[in-house]
Amino acid sequence: MKKTFLFIKIKSLIIISPEKSLLKKAKDALLLIKNVDSKEYIKIFSRLNIVFITNKNGFSNEFFMPEKIWFVNKSVIKNNDLKWLASLIIHEAFHATQFKNGKYVLPFGEKLERPAIDLQEKFLKRIKDLSSKKQLESEFKRKYWKEIEDDELSYSYFRNLLRLFETKKLKLMKIKTGL
Ligand SMILES: [Zn+2]
Repeated sequence: MKKTFLFIKIKSLIIISPEKSLLKKAKDALLLIKNVDSKEYIKIFSRLNIVFITNKNGFSNEFFMPEKIWFVNKSVIKNNDLKWLASLIIHEAFHATQFKNGKYVLPFGEKLERPAIDLQEKFLKRIKDLSSKKQLESEFKRKYWKEIEDDELSYSYFRNLLRLFETKKLKLMKIKTGL
């Protein structure tokens, strides 16, 4: 049987998830952004259309333009704390501003990442999450790029999910209450 994904809508943003608990966590991360930085919160909705939490373990994630869909494997949501998650959403949403005509305006790498990391860092500073702030630099330097390079399977998986979603071949169920 095909997996049924659950979803909620917050303003214009759709969050899709294989599990209710992850849906709640993503929603709570958005609430945290709202409470900490209302200006940044508002921007999320023009930058991101869909947060798609996959049913796959692992730490890969990828942002698609012009669809404005952020695919994120479920371990990222499950294993990170709320503050980190909120800062990551801000980071990923920012990448939407770095596109022009469907292409990144900067070459992939440090130049592209730096402004997104700076914004993420600003948020972590604001919530005084110093341990995450320290973690950020090393994570992106060491692990992040390595993991991305090592995880080609996830990238074809994301593309396949995107195709299924766009051709309405995924089973989606809206959650109205209880989150
Ligand atoms: Zn990034």
